[in-house]
Amino acid sequence: MTIAITPIAKETADLLAKLGVAGNTLSGGELSVHSPVTREQIAALRQVSPAAAASAIDKADAAFRAWRLVPGPRRGELVRLLGEELRAAKAELGRLVSIEVGKIPSEGLGEVQEMIDICDFAVGLSRQLYGLTIATERPGHRMMETWHPLGVVGVISAFNFPVAVWSWNAALALVCGDAVVWKPSEKTPLTALACAAIFARAVKRFGADAPDGLLTVLIGDRAVGEVLVDHPKVPLVSATGSTRMGREVGPRLAKRFARAVLELGGNNAGIVCPSADLDMALRAIAFGAMGTAGQRCTTLRRLFVHDSVYDQIVPRLKRAYESVSVGNPLETGALVGPLIDKAAFDNMQKALEQARANGGTVTGGTRFDSGHQDAWYVHPAIVEMPAQVAPVTEETFAPILYVMRYSDFDAVLALHNAVGAGLSSSIFTRDLQEAERFLGADGSDCGIANVNIGTSGAEIGGAFGGEKETGGGRESGSDAWKAYMRRATNTINYSNALPLAQGVSFDID
Ligand code: NAD
Repeated sequence: MTIAITPIAKETADLLAKLGVAGNTLSGGELSVHSPVTREQIAALRQVSPAAAASAIDKADAAFRAWRLVPGPRRGELVRLLGEELRAAKAELGRLVSIEVGKIPSEGLGEVQEMIDICDFAVGLSRQLYGLTIATERPGHRMMETWHPLGVVGVISAFNFPVAVWSWNAALALVCGDAVVWKPSEKTPLTALACAAIFARAVKRFGADAPDGLLTVLIGDRAVGEVLVDHPKVPLVSATGSTRMGREVGPRLAKRFARAVLELGGNNAGIVCPSADLDMALRAIAFGAMGTAGQRCTTLRRLFVHDSVYDQIVPRLKRAYESVSVGNPLETGALVGPLIDKAAFDNMQKALEQARANGGTVTGGTRFDSGHQDAWYVHPAIVEMPAQVAPVTEETFAPILYVMRYSDFDAVLALHNAVGAGLSSSIFTRDLQEAERFLGADGSDCGIANVNIGTSGAEIGGAFGGEKETGGGRESGSDAWKAYMRRATNTINYSNALPLAQGVSFDID
């Protein structure tokens, strides 16, 4: 398949060339890649066959066997170099993210910054893969735990954070002594090729103790992902995407006792309490709900507003919705770029119809004419709902914010938690009791719970992930690294006797 040389296809090819991706890999294949900005084709990549994917995993396993013996701090040096290469490539990679996903420039660059941040974090971590020393009940004994490299880590990623999610996993996996095989979204494979080229430069600078095959990118659709999921030499798969995907991947991994880090859909809510700083809340809500055109896993989708402030904030919010600039994210000024494809637009329209049928009042939500008839831009929608009924309870991956009134704090907490997903949540209040209750044991049931901050835009230092149908996985900061290593408990007897634990006697003559 030859690619028409449109301005966006040309810019994509130029960026990829600068980033180190060979031009001849961009055409001639069956996987057609389109930029949501204009929906024009920007590449046609060759997909990997299942057999080739399996043999790439075998090669990654061989790389792991060598890499696990390289000392942790030395492994950290490779990730430090990766961070340096990412800094050097930030402008081009950020732009490529904007082209491939449709993010506004600051979000494209922000995604790359997140990659740099996790590299910095992982470099420090490479000297802190600590185990405990544990008190033993037996004299002349010592008990401790050690953390060892795990194996090949499979990474399956979603379209909306095409590179940051890979780096969250890869930076940790590499310092933990693992090899990485990455199946990016079939909607955003070009940024993955760019990352592979950037990583190759870091490896080259690092030296010969980085084995071949430490990172492999497998271009393809879910069938290729399934090879990773089922391969016996992949002890951990970190899979980011819809809850539907997690329902398929989770049981398959469990069947072969492999580990899963599942990072699935969110249906994130915010609560605006009577004492909230409404100016602050307004800004946080607007970014959380409309940013990235509602295509973040942490996008704010449900908003509960106390009766006493509803008429102060909701009209302002509606005005913000009506005035927000929608348009080509590559041109300055637009804050809301395109949806990824027509299916996303159709899903949004279906949800809005259902909301209307269930008593919702919709502001916005119509198609925006970008001048590119195949591109799918929308005016973000704000929907006042009389109750939390369908479609509010499901994630629709588009910019729809459902707004509901509340009067009782206990009741709103219950409603907040009454959905399948459990990723991110926030409360806007100056009341200490409300804030602490929201963060407490009977408060928000999400993996991320914030006070006076929106639901999206997490930093890499904390563990990222959510509960319930979000999958329970954690990646990025804190102690998320532990999923990428295997723990051994070691007991060493340096005495001349063999006392058995729990006082058991088993004396033989
Ligand atoms: P998706 O589920 O359609 O695809 C995600 C990835 O999974 C793709 O690479 C796809 O090829 C692969 N895949 C799909 N089915 C598979 C299977 N049966 N076996 C193996 N691989 C399979 O998701 P998407 O549309 O790309 O992304 C949007 C979704 O991702 C939203 O639901 C969003 O909330 C979620 N998401 C979650 C997080 C998080 O950290 N929790 C982050 C980003 C996106």
